[in-house]
Amino acid sequence: MSFGKVLVANRGEIAVRVIQACRELGIRSVAVYSEADERAMHRRQADEAYFIGPAPAAESYLNVERLVEAIERSGAEAVNPGYGFLSESAAFARTVQGVGAVWVGPPPEAMEAMGLKVRAKELARLADVPTVPGYDGEEASEERLVEEAERIGYPVLVKASAGGGGRGMRTVTEPKDFAEAVRGARREAEAAFGDGSVFLEKLIEAPRHVEVQVIADDHGNVVHLYERECSIQRRHQKVVEEAPSPALSPGLREAICESAVRLARKAGYRNAGTVEFLLDGEDFYFLEMNARLQVEHPVTELVTGLDLVCLQLSVAAGEPLPFGQNDVTLRGSAIEARLYAEDEQGMPVGGKLLDFDPPEGAGIRNDAGFEAGDEVPINYDSMLAKLIVHAPDRPAAIRRLRRALHDYSVLGVPTNLPLLGRIAEHPAFATGETTTRFLDQHELGDPPPEKPIPRTALLLAATADLLKSNTSTDPFTSGPWRLLGASRLRYASGDKTYHVETVRAGSRTLRLSLAGEESVVEVLRVADGRIQALVDGEPAEARIAIVGTGLMLSFDGDSYRIARPAPPDVNEGGPGGDSASAGLTAPMPGTVVKMAVSEGDEVQEGQLLLVLEAMKMEQPVTAPHAGTVTSLPFDEGALVPGGAVLAEIVQPKSE
Ligand code: ADP
Ligand code: ADP
Ligand code: MG
Repeated sequence: MSFGKVLVANRGEIAVRVIQACRELGIRSVAVYSEADERAMHRRQADEAYFIGPAPAAESYLNVERLVEAIERSGAEAVNPGYGFLSESAAFARTVQGVGAVWVGPPPEAMEAMGLKVRAKELARLADVPTVPGYDGEEASEERLVEEAERIGYPVLVKASAGGGGRGMRTVTEPKDFAEAVRGARREAEAAFGDGSVFLEKLIEAPRHVEVQVIADDHGNVVHLYERECSIQRRHQKVVEEAPSPALSPGLREAICESAVRLARKAGYRNAGTVEFLLDGEDFYFLEMNARLQVEHPVTELVTGLDLVCLQLSVAAGEPLPFGQNDVTLRGSAIEARLYAEDEQGMPVGGKLLDFDPPEGAGIRNDAGFEAGDEVPINYDSMLAKLIVHAPDRPAAIRRLRRALHDYSVLGVPTNLPLLGRIAEHPAFATGETTTRFLDQHELGDPPPEKPIPRTALLLAATADLLKSNTSTDPFTSGPWRLLGASRLRYASGDKTYHVETVRAGSRTLRLSLAGEESVVEVLRVADGRIQALVDGEPAEARIAIVGTGLMLSFDGDSYRIARPAPPDVNEGGPGGDSASAGLTAPMPGTVVKMAVSEGDEVQEGQLLLVLEAMKMEQPVTAPHAGTVTSLPFDEGALVPGGAVLAEIVQPKSE
C-alpha cells in the first residue's frame, strides 16, 4: 500500500525535500503556501498548491483550519509535517487523522508522551535511560526551585518543559541571578509555546550533543540508524552536524543507540524520530526526543544509504521496515552545514537572491529551499539551504566541506558562509574536539575585521562592468544599469576608493590600470553572472551581480560589496578635458571595427583614426587636430563603453 497524494504542511528546504521524494515514489505532492511564499520554490515544485493565508506563520503555516481545508480540497491521503511549525503538535496530528488523512509521524499519544521534556525524562528513567541530574517535580514554586538549584549545585540550567529551538533556556551561574532567570524563561516559554512551565537541570559545562536516529514501524520493529554529533551550536541551535560522531568508541556507540531504541519502544513510538543526548566524557544523558524528521537527517542518509523521507512514507502507509538492525551499517563520514540568511551579528535578514549557486561535485549534496532570483521572506526561519558532504573518512569529508564552502556563492543577501568557513578551517574541528561551547571557546562567533578587496577581484569587477555596458544580451543579473561615463571606473569598498582605467581593450583582452599598476585581463567566459578570466596569466573567477548602486561579488570564498560612486563627468574622460578632444570619446557603446592609425603616428586634422560601429551603423572617428597619437586604448574588435576615450592626440608644442 502506498499513497496517491501527500500534502506537505511546511515550506522551504524541507518541503522541497519531501516533494522531491514524492516525485520519486510516484506520489502526487500538494504544497501549501502563505502570501510571502506565492512564488516560493516548494510551491513551484509541487503538483498542486493551496494558499493558506497571510505571511505570519500563525495565520498560515500554523493555521490548522486553513491546512485542514487544503487537505480536504486536495483529497490528500496523508500529511507530512516536516520539522518546526506543527510537526510536533499532537493536536494537529489528531485533527489530520480526524479528517481521514494519515499522519506521517508518530501516533499522537507518543507525541504527547515526548512533547513535554519533563514527561519525556520521566519515561526515560522508566526505560533505564540516564537523564541529566536536575529537578522536574510538580511542585514548582519559586522557593522550591531555589532550594532545588542549591541541591543540584550551580551552574544550573532553567529550561522550558515545552521548549524547542533553543528557546526558553537560561543558564544561571550564581544564586543571586536565579529568580530573574526563572521569570525570564517562563516569559519566553509562555510567549513561544503558550506554556510557561520550567524545570531545572545541572549545567554540564562542555558536553557534546549526540543524538540517535530511530525509525519504527507498525509491526513492532524499532531500529536505530546510528548517531549524529551536533555539538557545534550557536545559542543552543545547531550549525554544523556530522555522522558518525568522532567521540564514540564502539562500546559507547552501542550503549547509546540501544538506549534510544529502548526509549522509543517504551513510548510506543512509530515512524522517524530522534533521541537527543548530552555526552560528558564516557557518560551520556537523555535530553529530549524530537518526534519528527530532523533538519540534520541527511548526514544519516549519506552514511547509511537510506532515504528517511521514503521510509517515513512507507512506514506511515503501514508497511514493515524493509531491513533489520543488523542490515544497517555505516559507510564513511558525512557533515552538514546550515546556511542561514543573516547579518554579521547573526540576525536574520531577507531580500532577493541575485545569485544562489551551491557547489557541485562528487560527494556533495545540497538541500535548498531557494534558487537564484527568489525572494527570501523575513517571516520565517532564515535557513536557506543545507550543504552536506560525504567522503570515505572524516579528514576527507572535512577537506570536501572546505572546498565546497569555498565554492559556494550567494549574492543579494548576507549569509553565515564566513562563519561556516571559520568552523571548517578550525584545527579543533579537524581533530574532532567539538563541544557545545565550540564557537565561544574559539571565539568564532565574532566577525573578523573586514578584509580589503583583493586586486584580482576588483579587476574582474571592472571587466564585468565594461562588458556589461557593451552587451545588449545581459550577462549579469538584472538591475538598472547606467552607461559608464568613461573608461575610468571608480569604485568604493569599505572606506577605500579605487580607480580602474582602461589602458587598452581588445575584444577579449583588456589592459587595466589599478593603483598605478597595469594588469592584463584575458576573458575566458562570461555567463550567468560568472566571469572567468586569466588575470596576468593566472586563472581567476568571480560571481558578479550588478545592481543600481554598485556590484556584489563572490571571489575566492568571500563576498564583497562594491559601490559605484556617481559616474564621472564625460569630459573627465578626455585628455585634460581639452575641448579639442571632445570628438575622441565614444558617443555611445559600440565596437571598434577598423583601426586606421597606430600609436606614435603623426596625423593631420580630419584624418580617419578608426571606425566605430554603434547601433548597427558605422561612424568614422577623425582627428580633431593635427598631432601625435599617444594612446589608442581599444584594439580592433574591442567593445567600447559609451563615453570611453578612443584616442589621445598630443598637439605639437608650438607651430
Ligand atoms: P533540530 O534539532 O532539527 O535543529 P530544533 O529544535 O532546533 O531541531 O528545530 C528545528 C527547526 O524548527 C528549526 O529550524 C527551528 O527554527 C524550528 N523550531 C523549533 N522549535 C520551534 C518553535 N517553537 N517555534 C518556531 N520554530 C521552531
Ligand atoms: P531544544 O528543545 O531547544 O532543542 P534541548 O534540551 O534539546 O533543547 O537542548 C538544546 C541544547 O542546549 C543542547 O544541544 C545543549 O547544547 C544545550 N543544553 C541543554 N541542556 C543542557 C544541560 N543540562 N547542560 C548543558 N547544556 C545543555
Ligand atoms: Mg533539542
